[in-house]
Amino acid sequence: ARATATSAPLTPGALADGTKIPLLANLGKPAGAAEAVELGAEGVGLFRTEFLFLSSTNAPTVDQQTKAYTELLAAFPGQKVVVRALDAGADKPLAFLNDAHEENPALGLRGIRSLRASEDILREQLTALQQADKATEADLWVMAPMVGTVEETEYFTTLCREYGIKTAGVMVEVPSAALMADKVLAIADFASIGTNDLTQYTMAADRLLGSVSSFQDPWHPAVLQLIGMTGAAGKAQGKPVGICGEAAADPLLAVVLVGLGATSLSMAPTALADVRATLLTHTIKDAERIAAAALAADDAASARAAAQAAADDTA
Ligand code: PEP
Ligand code: MG
Repeated sequence: ARATATSAPLTPGALADGTKIPLLANLGKPAGAAEAVELGAEGVGLFRTEFLFLSSTNAPTVDQQTKAYTELLAAFPGQKVVVRALDAGADKPLAFLNDAHEENPALGLRGIRSLRASEDILREQLTALQQADKATEADLWVMAPMVGTVEETEYFTTLCREYGIKTAGVMVEVPSAALMADKVLAIADFASIGTNDLTQYTMAADRLLGSVSSFQDPWHPAVLQLIGMTGAAGKAQGKPVGICGEAAADPLLAVVLVGLGATSLSMAPTALADVRATLLTHTIKDAERIAAAALAADDAASARAAAQAAADDTA
């Protein structure tokens, strides 16, 4: 069902020069779809599937999963919906999948690594996604979390093709994947940058640990450089590079991300309006200049200040 806008019409995400930047929703449950549509989401850029698995001591059945994915996809006819394969481990350990005794779970068997160790779970998930795809009209994209190597990219995309998934990609949230982005994107159909984990791993600071929380800032030029490398690789290979970490919800940073080559932005639906409004005030040339100012800074705070000054220059 389509919700109707209550006040101003919700235009698709675009820059001042008309460059389209689709604005998508991050969702954790199918029930969030209606609100996302109402707030103008043009699709889903990150559907976290962990909720299906977290409450149980066993993996959900294929039927249970098919029902949930069908409910999600049915809310977005004709639109893109990016579903992430289960990202278990670290902050989201599963009793039936993860070893609770890892000393450094963020560096352990998580994401695609744990799926490979229990491939039957991944196969069941792909089976359910394929069935939901057949039953609905959405444009289903599927991606793997925590991919760090070209070989993992090959593994995941090959398996997706086996299940008839037409668009298979990877999340870029481990620095090695960003550094290898040209090779990763020669294989994957798309990349989606998870700025939360990419920042955690670039800065070597646990994103859940309060004592190092000042390092968890995606404005850091080291993080921006890795995003820029991935964006450039996407452009060279003609492949989309989205952003689905929290960074996309910060309107000024959203402009920087587009300047670094992001082709779509996905965020909590409540952040869509502010990002949409800010994008409309800059051209792609502006965004590239603002991004260059941020990249040249020494630290996160000065990157933000430099971007703001460059943005004020435009206005
Ligand atoms: C991220 O790491 O930026 C991301 C989007 O994934 P999650 O927050 O679920 O780890
Ligand atoms: Mg992540």
